[in-house]
Amino acid sequence: MTAELATPESSEMDRLHTIFANQKKAFEAERHRPIEQRKADLKKIEDMVKARADDFAAAIDADFSRRSAGETAVAETGFTIATAKHTRQHLSQWASAKKKPVPMTLAPGKAYVRREPKGVVGIIAPWNYPMQLALAPLVAALGAGCRVMIKPSEFTPRTSELLREVLGELFSEDHVAVIEGGPDVAAAFSSVPFDHLFYTGSTHVGRIVAKAAAENLTPVTLELGGKSPTVIAPDFDIAEAAKTIAWGKFLNAGQTCVAPDYALVPRGSEQAFGEAVMSEADRMWPNVAENDDYTAIVSERHHTRLTEMVEEARKSGATVLQADFEASKAGNTRLFPPTVVINPSRDLQLMQEEIFGPVLPVLGHDGLTDAARTINEGDRPLALYIYSKSPRTARGFLAKTMSGGVGVNVPMLHLSVEDLPFGGVGHSGQGAYHGEYGFLTFTHERAVFEAPVWHPSRMIQPPYGKMFEFFKKLQA
Ligand code: NAD
Repeated sequence: MTAELATPESSEMDRLHTIFANQKKAFEAERHRPIEQRKADLKKIEDMVKARADDFAAAIDADFSRRSAGETAVAETGFTIATAKHTRQHLSQWASAKKKPVPMTLAPGKAYVRREPKGVVGIIAPWNYPMQLALAPLVAALGAGCRVMIKPSEFTPRTSELLREVLGELFSEDHVAVIEGGPDVAAAFSSVPFDHLFYTGSTHVGRIVAKAAAENLTPVTLELGGKSPTVIAPDFDIAEAAKTIAWGKFLNAGQTCVAPDYALVPRGSEQAFGEAVMSEADRMWPNVAENDDYTAIVSERHHTRLTEMVEEARKSGATVLQADFEASKAGNTRLFPPTVVINPSRDLQLMQEEIFGPVLPVLGHDGLTDAARTINEGDRPLALYIYSKSPRTARGFLAKTMSGGVGVNVPMLHLSVEDLPFGGVGHSGQGAYHGEYGFLTFTHERAVFEAPVWHPSRMIQPPYGKMFEFFKKLQA
């Protein structure tokens, strides 16, 4: 008989189940972690991120083969610090019981909602913002008083290892634990009977995660992706719009869930808009090959996928605009230059799936009703951007469409407004977080009605008589 060898994956699976059991026990022992201790937990994260910011920048840079330090400072460390601070500052108010009115027919009594931690929760994080998308949900879960297990992405192993190290220094494993591994560990992770499972990643895997969670009736939050459209109304200057659309598209080399996926511009202005976007890209990231502010693609597989998408578009006859790029000067990086594709056919891969890279298809529309029709033909997107000088026009466009979130005249910033819910709708996800929405995601809202020792409701118990008739009249 051959003994089965323990692989890193199998030992991580054993660890997964042991830690889950220990976290369950720890939660039973302390069901209501005092608010002051939760605030201290959040402060520890804040201080750790400040102290280890350079280590995170280096780990993410190594994982991506090049990650702009500026982007990491803003979108990873800065974002996480702001989230932890905001949660800490509002926690007492969010966690307090919420009094509710009692109907006259049920008086006297007290009605209120207790906001209680759900218990032991799981967080599955993706690679594109490997620190922010692991730590921001962690902040929400710790604020709610939960015990937390995190499964970061296997595509960013150095960042995952660093997360494990720093969180291991701050918390005991029965409070916060990091489980590393690929799809097998991830699949095992999503089968654990957590009290809540929070998943960020592709729609395809989101569906698998939702099925696994359903087996345990584990509630899920799904933060997914999709094709986020950007629409320019006829009243808006296309060169002005290009300034922020180029930024939103090429930041993190387009590997942002809320990046503008494609642009819909007034018909006839596609080429001029495409050229304006390229000139803005050149202004922000000149000489991309040697420019440390321009981020690379996370893996060879994604790089090949983007190359094939653009080649297919080129072969189909679409005009492709691409920044000058000397690969020999890019060193050992997986850079992909800023690219615009003018009027690609809708059946190309580029228009069929989320691009998740620095490639912007530009299509023409014949007015906002036509643009809304194009958007509504696809799945409901995570974000939608509308550029118009008139707030009335922009709001009118919102009434014709649906999306997880919206930016008017600017992409992506809605996700930085802490008090707005961040999440998708339909194929782009379900549930939301950030600010109080994140706290509530990991909270059970427990309804309580407190009656005095003797309550008039006894009078409506059988046998039904005069008093019952009186109560019926009160209700009518
Ligand atoms: P990924 O490949 O890193 O996967 C995400 C996580 O899912 C990883 O931890 C991975 O191990 C895990 N996973 C893989 N197979 C699994 C399985 N069978 N069961 C359970 N878990 C499994 O990341 P990705 O999916 O390539 O991420 C990119 C996608 O994520 C894009 O579509 C993007 O739009 C979306 N995204 C959404 C948000 C948001 O907030 N809505 C944020 C970032 C990324």
